[in-house]
Amino acid sequence: MKIGVFALQGAFIEHERALLSLGEEVKEIRLLSDFTNDLDGIVLPGGESTVQGKLLKEEGLFEPVKKAIEGGLPVFGTCAGLILLAKKLTNDPNVYFGTLNATVKRNAYGRQLGSFSASLNVKPLGFYPAVFIRAPYIESIGKGVEILAEHEGKIVAARQANMLATAFHPELTDDLRMHAYFLDMVREAK
Ligand code: GLN
Repeated sequence: MKIGVFALQGAFIEHERALLSLGEEVKEIRLLSDFTNDLDGIVLPGGESTVQGKLLKEEGLFEPVKKAIEGGLPVFGTCAGLILLAKKLTNDPNVYFGTLNATVKRNAYGRQLGSFSASLNVKPLGFYPAVFIRAPYIESIGKGVEILAEHEGKIVAARQANMLATAFHPELTDDLRMHAYFLDMVREAK
């Protein structure tokens, strides 16, 4: 399968490595011309959501990508990618794609706990090593959203139809099961 990885900013190379290790074809997306209709799924990596949102708009990618997600293109958003997907942000007036029926808090763990790792029970996988970096969490969810993992009572992974989102960074561990789960979603959609 061919997976598009947004390479505007942030931790995209690590996602590419994970997908390549799982035997998939990867295409970096920087320009509108990279966003071709042969992609089976896309990845929105971690990084800085404000910068990524701005670049998506400047490159003319924003509307076509939003439409594709609304049309059912499988998408995996990690950290900043979760922020881009969220319908509402509690501590930021911006809304980006707004396709995930969830309210998300940016930099939700404050400065002290800016980065940490935790072993989480992720619903489809069992225990999973999760790396958090200035992470958001999901404060509340709406219709159609399934909670996949929580950390200390906060939702940190969720799925809604063709959208998979994590507050943590599966691409920064050697555990490829979260990517494999996304690829199962992509296969189902095909
Ligand atoms: N704090 C970042 C943001 O608000 C997200 C952090 C990350 O992607 N590691 O965009």
